[in-house]
Amino acid sequence: MPEYSIGLDLGGTNLRAAAMDRAGHVLDRRATATNPDAGREGMLGCMVNAIAELRHSCGAAQLAGIGIGVPGFILLKEGIIRNSNNLACLEDFPIRAEIERRLNARVILENDANAAALGEKWMGAGRDVDDLVLLTLGTGVGGGIISGGRVLQGYLGMAGELGHITVYPDGNPCGCGNRGCLEKHASATAITAMASMLRLGEGLSAREVYDLALGGNEKASRIFLVVGEALGVALATLVNTFNFPLYLLSGGVLAAWDLFAPPMLAEVRRRSFSFRTTATRIERATLGNEAGLFGAACLPWVEAGPANGAA
Ligand SMILES: [Zn+2]
Repeated sequence: MPEYSIGLDLGGTNLRAAAMDRAGHVLDRRATATNPDAGREGMLGCMVNAIAELRHSCGAAQLAGIGIGVPGFILLKEGIIRNSNNLACLEDFPIRAEIERRLNARVILENDANAAALGEKWMGAGRDVDDLVLLTLGTGVGGGIISGGRVLQGYLGMAGELGHITVYPDGNPCGCGNRGCLEKHASATAITAMASMLRLGEGLSAREVYDLALGGNEKASRIFLVVGEALGVALATLVNTFNFPLYLLSGGVLAAWDLFAPPMLAEVRRRSFSFRTTATRIERATLGNEAGLFGAACLPWVEAGPANGAA
């Protein structure tokens, strides 16, 4: 077996782990359902078992490091999940130290959306750049910023919470305390909520709203116009802030790209001089829901620095 790292992507309902070599080849993998009702001990057991099994199958001597992506606000230095909607049982607990103790190995913790951005940079749509932003449009909106090939973490580890940047100052209220957050206008949940507000129907899925829009329904079409404009406002701000070459979108809402992308790109053009006058790209990510897993496995390689023999 070659030298390899282990990445683990922890979600609210399932967990994926994989052993990968430095070229991003998957050597072995595990996936299991996680049950938050089983509490902290159940979750920790699932995580530690998956990693221990991979280490056993690929050889402990060749293991270069372990990276774990978790949802929520992370205190990086302390290795603590400060706040997580999906994994309340793991909040305010020294999760990194406890996993390290059980595995007797060092672990690198990262926010899952930040890890997904790193995954896209390593093996996905961002392979040819060192600087990018990823927005994941799922039930919420997650964000990750890669600068100089590394996750931009902020002083505590909470940077890249792009779902909560304001796109409409008087927009829909958000659980974070703000109004008009990007996530309240561009997530699958937001699409369902807007359909209800416009009396299009109760509890319609984003997919159903999309199908109605394709069928010519005006209210449904207007919802994707809002999604596009909200994304455009956010992306123009990001383009103006970072001057990165690449901004990627991923997540389930991406299926409606043909409906929201035209108003989104028009809005970015309107609001960003540098977007209008440079070759800045806004594109679809390519790793789908595997991005977080790849990014978690990449964390030890980033920390280790360039491979021997590399420039
Ligand atoms: Zn918010």
